[in-house]
Parts: sequence; C-alpha cells; structure tokens
Amino acid sequence: MKPLFLVLFLSVFSASRLAAQQDSATIVQAHKATVEKIIRMALSDSLAFKRLATMCDTYGARLSGTENLERSIDWVLAELKKDNFQNVRGEPVMVPRWVRGREYCRLISPRVKTLEMLGLGGSIATPEGGITAEVLVVKNFDELDERAAEAKGKIVLFNTPFTEYRETVRVRVQGAMRAASAGAVASLIRSVGPFSMNTPHTGGMTYADTIKKIPHAAIAAEDAEMLARMASRKEKLTIEIFMSAQTLPDAASRNVVAEIKGTEKPNEILVFGGHIDSWDVGSGAMDDAGGCFAAWHALLTIKRLGLKPKRTIRLVMWTNEENGMRGGETYAEAHKDETHVFALESDAGVFKPEGFGFVGAKDLFPKARAIASLLEPVGATKITVGGGGADIGPLMRKGVPGMGLDVDGTKYFWYHHTNADTPDKLNPREINECAAAMAVMMFLMSESL
Ligand SMILES: [Zn+2]
Repeated sequence: MKPLFLVLFLSVFSASRLAAQQDSATIVQAHKATVEKIIRMALSDSLAFKRLATMCDTYGARLSGTENLERSIDWVLAELKKDNFQNVRGEPVMVPRWVRGREYCRLISPRVKTLEMLGLGGSIATPEGGITAEVLVVKNFDELDERAAEAKGKIVLFNTPFTEYRETVRVRVQGAMRAASAGAVASLIRSVGPFSMNTPHTGGMTYADTIKKIPHAAIAAEDAEMLARMASRKEKLTIEIFMSAQTLPDAASRNVVAEIKGTEKPNEILVFGGHIDSWDVGSGAMDDAGGCFAAWHALLTIKRLGLKPKRTIRLVMWTNEENGMRGGETYAEAHKDETHVFALESDAGVFKPEGFGFVGAKDLFPKARAIASLLEPVGATKITVGGGGADIGPLMRKGVPGMGLDVDGTKYFWYHHTNADTPDKLNPREINECAAAMAVMMFLMSESL
C-alpha cells in the first residue's frame, strides 16, 4: 500500500511541478520582447521625477486633513486625466486630523541647549506653560522596568539605538504608555533611524484608554547620545518641553484611482500603488510620493506602448496610510464586491529595485519568479517569501495575493519621516527602474494569472 501511495504522490507531485515549469517557461518565451519594450519605455525620460518634484515643491508635505494633501490630490487627478487613463477619480475617505502646532524642547541644565524635536503623530500637547522636569535616560523598555521607581515625575528619554525598523519602532509606538505607566510626565525617544544629521524623525504612536496620556516626542540621535553620556557621568539633567498638538474632528480626503480596463476579463482587477499622504515634515518625496509616482509611471508605460492587458490594471494612491490607514480600509470596504486577483504596493522608497516580497498561493511563486527573471536589466530579479504593504493589507487579509516592491533600503531610514525627505534624495533613473519592474510585474500577471 505504502509504496503505491508514494509512487502516486510522487508522480502527481512531479507532474504539477513540471506543469509549473512549463508554465513559467511559456511566460518567459511569450513576453520577452514585450518586457524589453516596457523597460526601454519606462527608462526613456524623467517625467516621473519631474512630476514628483513639481507636486512636492508646489504643495509641500501632505499630512491627512490638510489643504496641502487635498491640493496635491487635485493636481494628481488633473495630470492623470491628461494621461487619458480610464475611470480617473477621487474616492471619498474620512481621515483623522492631527495638527502639530508650535513645539520646542531645550536642555535647561547642566547647560542650556536647543534640542531639535518633533512631536509624534497623535501626541497630546503639554500644558500651556510646558513641562520642565528632570530626565531619566534608559536604553529600552527592560531598563525602564528595572528603574521604574526612578521615573516618577520625570521625563523619560528612551535612547534606543536603531537595529531594524520593525523592532526599534516599538519605542516610538509604545513609549508614552510605558513611560506613563512608570509615572513619567512626558516621554522622549531617540529618533528611529540608523543615521542622523541632527534630524529628528516623527511617526505614529498610540495611547491606551487605561493609561494616563502624556506628551511624546522624538529628539535627534546626536542629542539623545549626548544626554545619555551626561547621565552616565551622573549629571542631573533638566529639560523643558513645549507642545501645542491637537486632534481635530475627522476631515474629508480621497483615494486617487486610475485604470486601464482589461480586454478579456475586465472584472478581474490587479491593483497597485502607494500612499499619497505623508507626515507633515519634508515633502514626503520618498514616503511615499516615490511609490505613488513610480506606480503611476508604470501604468503610463503600459499605456504609452498601447499594450492591452487582459485584466483591469488599477492604480491607487491611498490616503492616510501614515496616521490612520483609513484609505486602505475604505478602499477594501468600498470595493468588496469586486474581484481583486493581485495587489502590489511600493512603500519602502524608490531606490535601486531588487525584487518583490510575495504572499500568495504556493503555485503562484514559480510564475512570480519567472516574471522576475525577466527583470535582470533593472536588477529586480529576487522573489522572496513575505511582503505586501499596509494599504493592500486589508485586501491580502481577505486572501488576495500581494507583493511589496523591494529596493536597496540602505538609506531609506536616513530620511524617512524627517525634514530631509525631499525630492533631491531620489534618483530619476531609480524611480524609472522601480516603475519598469512594477509595469512588467503588473502586465505579465494580468496576462498569465
Ligand atoms: Zn510610507
């Protein structure tokens, strides 16, 4: 019995593997010439960078609920219409509205020094007269737990060195709750980033209903290190913090949508893009105008070549990724009756592309690998397991296969969420390479799913 089962299993297994291999070989053969054309067209001008720089320079940072964001969206919609895409529209989304207001931080003793600071998104204000208190410097949550008795009435500074974003960001997200639980009156973090030129980083944070809310802000790594050195020399540190942040009622925003309708299966949708909102610092050039505009350039490349995808390829620039995720959630809800067959997001910067991180049915991996093998000219050949993105998360949780564009991330967190996230950090050719990689992935998935 056993050997027979094994033989049957092995033959079925190898037959399906053979089918997958043939399938992949067919994809490579059938689309080689098209892929070469897509890559050549995507790299042929610097329109994507020019458009990105125009939007960033003209309207500035695009925090949810701001005029800047809505004027940027108006401009993008008008440009998308000029490109003659189908169904260009802004889809309504209600977004949270956090306003930074005026804020500052300074060391009072042992010497007076301005500390560059950015309040973290969602933080409450300090009282009108600010908060002046002694500082307890800790390295992480464990050290705070050990020294909790010393935290009462103080400002806790988490001087946590950057390791990996997902790990280090916990101090930004949970720091206020942890410090307040130990009795602190405010909390500061060393900015989440591997490199600093006195550039504080903002970003999202959370409170819990059961824990006292205290102001929460980030200072530059240089100052965090200095304060840690002073504390280790047993110097008594006093800091003054002033913040006037407010959370106002929700405001109206939009997800930006444009598409090329499928010729054979228009009701099957492949969606891709990035997020159009940003933090209120710099001009959100990398995070995530880059992802949005590379995807836009990808769709334009398909259109310029007159390619007619079998299925509908839809570009979405989601709103409110940074401080609410309402764009991604509203999109998934509003389009729940449509059939999404594939989703792709670019929200890790648009540096040199390396490939895609993929989550989906196992039998799609050989297909994804075959498509990526054609991306040698732009270097985006790697398909790794695991990936996606925040805005396509709600679709992926319903089972839609999803991918995130992977790029050389060496410098991403140098600029992310800082005043230095401006167009000059981007390379026009690399944006085009990202666009080429996404155009090929979207078009070939549309043809071969
Ligand atoms: Zn982002």
